[in-house]
Formats: sequence, C-alpha cells, structure tokens
Amino acid sequence: MKQTVSFSKNAVNVFFHITTRCNLKCAHCYINPAQHGDATLPADTARKWLWFFQKPGKAANLILLGGEPTLHPELAQIVTAARQMGYASVTIDTNGYVFHDILDQVTPEDVDYFSFSLDGATPATNDQIRGAGCYAACTRGIRRAVEKGFGVSVIYTVSRKNLHELADMPEVLSDLGVHRFFIQVIGIRGRSAQAGGDALQLTRQQWEQNVVPVAQRVAKSGIAVTYPKVFLEPDEVFECAGRVAENYFVFPNGRVYQCPLCEDFALHSLQINDQGLFPAPKINEADLFRLDIAEGCVINKLVQGGNIDYDDQGRPRWKIACCLLKEEIPAG
Ligand code: SF4
Ligand code: SF4
Repeated sequence: MKQTVSFSKNAVNVFFHITTRCNLKCAHCYINPAQHGDATLPADTARKWLWFFQKPGKAANLILLGGEPTLHPELAQIVTAARQMGYASVTIDTNGYVFHDILDQVTPEDVDYFSFSLDGATPATNDQIRGAGCYAACTRGIRRAVEKGFGVSVIYTVSRKNLHELADMPEVLSDLGVHRFFIQVIGIRGRSAQAGGDALQLTRQQWEQNVVPVAQRVAKSGIAVTYPKVFLEPDEVFECAGRVAENYFVFPNGRVYQCPLCEDFALHSLQINDQGLFPAPKINEADLFRLDIAEGCVINKLVQGGNIDYDDQGRPRWKIACCLLKEEIPAG
C-alpha cells in the first residue's frame, strides 16, 4: 500500500517562517531565536521575498509557518499575494489557536490546507508537550476549519513522550473529520537539543512496531497518511534532497536553509538581503550535502546520530534517509 515519494525535481517547496513569535512554548519547538531572530516580517517584505522563489516552469508550493503564523496580522494579505503570484498551493501550519479570525479571512480557494499540530490523543499528553489548554484550542480550531470546508491535516511529532498515544489517533482523527495525517519524527534541534534530545528519539524497532501499523490503520479509515522514511535498507538508494530537490526554509532574519536539520547553526546556504536571494559564505550546508558517508545523511550523523546502530566491525547496520523523504499511504 505504501509508496515512497521521491523528491520532485520539478517542484519548489517554500517553507516560509513569516514570524518567530508564538503564544506557546512547546517542549520540542525548533525555533531558535539566536539563529532565526525574533522578527515578524511586514507583509510588503514577505511579498517581495515570495517573488525570489518563483521560477519559470516550476510550480512552487508555499507553506506558511512560524512561530505561529496566524499571529501575523496580515497573514490573509500574504496568502492573497502568493495566489496572485501563481503559487501552486498554499498551506498554513498552525498550533490551532487560529488568531485574527483567519478562518473567516481566507477561503478554501485561497488555502489548500490548514495543518494543525497535535502531539497526543488526549489533553494530558498533548498539553504536557504543548502547554495547558492547547488540546482543547487545537481540536476546536480543527472542527471550525472542517466546518468551513477547508482541507485539514494534523501533524503528530512522535517522540518517546507521546509514542504511547499514537495508536489512539485513528479514532481521534476520524472523529475530528480531518483529511490528511502527517507523522513526523522528532528532530533534535531547538528546545529538544537543549533538553537532552537523545532521550526523545525513537529506536528503529519502536518506529517500525508503532508508526507503520498506525499509518496503515489511519489510511484504511479513509485518511491519507504521510510519514518520513527514516531508515533505509542496505539495498535502498540514499539521496540528499539538498543535492537533487528544491526546498527552501526561509526565516525572517533572511537566512534560507535547504536542510531543516541545519537550522540550529549558521550553516544556511542562501541569504536574502534588499537586493534578492544570494549564496551564503562558505562553509555552509551545501558543502556538507556533497559528502558521502556510510550512515547516509551527513547532518543526521552530526546532530542526532543516536538513531544509528553499528555492528562489531563499526559498520552502520542501516543508513538514515533524508528527513525530507516520505512514505505515503493513500486514503482507503
Ligand atoms: S506552536 Fe510551534 S512555534 Fe509555537 S512553541 Fe510550539 S512548536 Fe514552537
Ligand atoms: S536531511 Fe540529510 S539528506 Fe536530507 S537535505 Fe539534510 S543533509 Fe541532505
């Protein structure tokens, strides 16, 4: 049933952090103010920056995120501008509070998906990670978005803190009426890295015994599921998205990364200034993408290598796939 989605060579994906402000303080938040700044981009600046990623003949998909992007008072105008420029799709990632009545300010024609972050099947687990009252606010936001006819997805970031409730998610998702489910693996960056992240990462066995069966159950219930591949068999080909695809992770201080695992460091390969989008000084992530190592992803090995195991000869038992390589199971 499942299908590995290879990186699309013809698509451009722009993950645009229009603000780093947020009303929450999630335990695993990857926003790192020392690296990403604390700015909220004025709509005019955001509009200007959106042009930098428009390329002839390549459909660009826009994912607006933060911080909490719905805290941006001009989010609706930014969405409209992106549509007018010809962005192929627009998604808004939200923690569920959907500020500034954003569900009334945009339409399902403007926004393809609202993507809500929920990290537990119960308030107890979700709110321990994301903050008191968050489960109630997020599920309320999901129901409102579904009622209004938006495409709605839920993102569940799996760690050892909430693995035990992943199996309860199929019923929660059906009850909420969502259309897509994204399972994410915890990244050891931002607050996770400061809080001894190795204790949060799943082992390969935990991943395979829990994530894959839940993904299959959710898909069977009629909800499409996407989850990262993470572990590669020896005969599977490793590819780095930084070499073969176009993904841009844009921060309000002008840094543009092509690999999200690099975001805790000044390793961005591109930089925006008043004149446009330019290569950043070396050494940067693009130099690291070129390295071939037995463990697969170089940056994974450097920043979160606890997910690799070695045999008696010191050889890795498996490779770690690019974090942007996904498995997809269609609904039904
Ligand atoms: S909602 Fe997102 S940006 Fe806000 S604290 Fe949580 S993870 Fe960070
Ligand atoms: S996660 Fe690894 S493989 Fe993927 S873009 Fe980053 S460095 Fe390349």
